[in-house]
Amino acid sequence: MKIDDLDLKLIYLLMDNSRLSISELAERLGVSRPTVKSRLEKLEKEGVILGYTVKLNPELLRAHNVVALIVKTDSPEKMSEFEEIIEINRFTSRKYLIKIAVEDMEELRKVIEGAGFEVIEIMPVLESIERTTPPKVKIPFKCDYCGKEIVGEPIVYKYHNRVYFLCCPTCLREFKKTRENIEKFKLKEEDKVEHAHEHEHHAHN
Ligand SMILES: [Zn+2]
Repeated sequence: MKIDDLDLKLIYLLMDNSRLSISELAERLGVSRPTVKSRLEKLEKEGVILGYTVKLNPELLRAHNVVALIVKTDSPEKMSEFEEIIEINRFTSRKYLIKIAVEDMEELRKVIEGAGFEVIEIMPVLESIERTTPPKVKIPFKCDYCGKEIVGEPIVYKYHNRVYFLCCPTCLREFKKTRENIEKFKLKEEDKVEHAHEHEHHAHN
């Protein structure tokens, strides 16, 4: 499957806010709505976009006591019956590192007995550090100013509801300058047109 710059920009914007509408995406990227629609359909069909998700307040996720356990079990499928088990990592064919979120020790005991695994080690999780990083797309895309591939995080620049992706502060500065000049030029042109109309009116009178 071929993913181009426009696809990457769509993915980038949606990873940051999955509720952006097709019109908003089209406006931000300066393309038509049918283009956005067909790109999204393609990305969904080809399994690049698997779904549109929600960012939950981390406080809600921390409402429980979390315990990490190393366990041994011959019937790992039993673990998926317990919604208290929030993470399952397999080490070897029988050994797992799992995380359980419970309100109290009684609940923990029920899960351990119910899932029927042998506990090798049990550790309370004192703190989970929420890492708030900007969305990462591991495919490089091109700078809107110099056209070079962006290494690392792009600088996202919003201008008149459109977004641009720049590779470095220098490109951002130069890009802004160019935009400002285009803007000034446009204003002058509009001015000229208005004056021209005025002259026409005078001529008719
Ligand atoms: Zn650049």
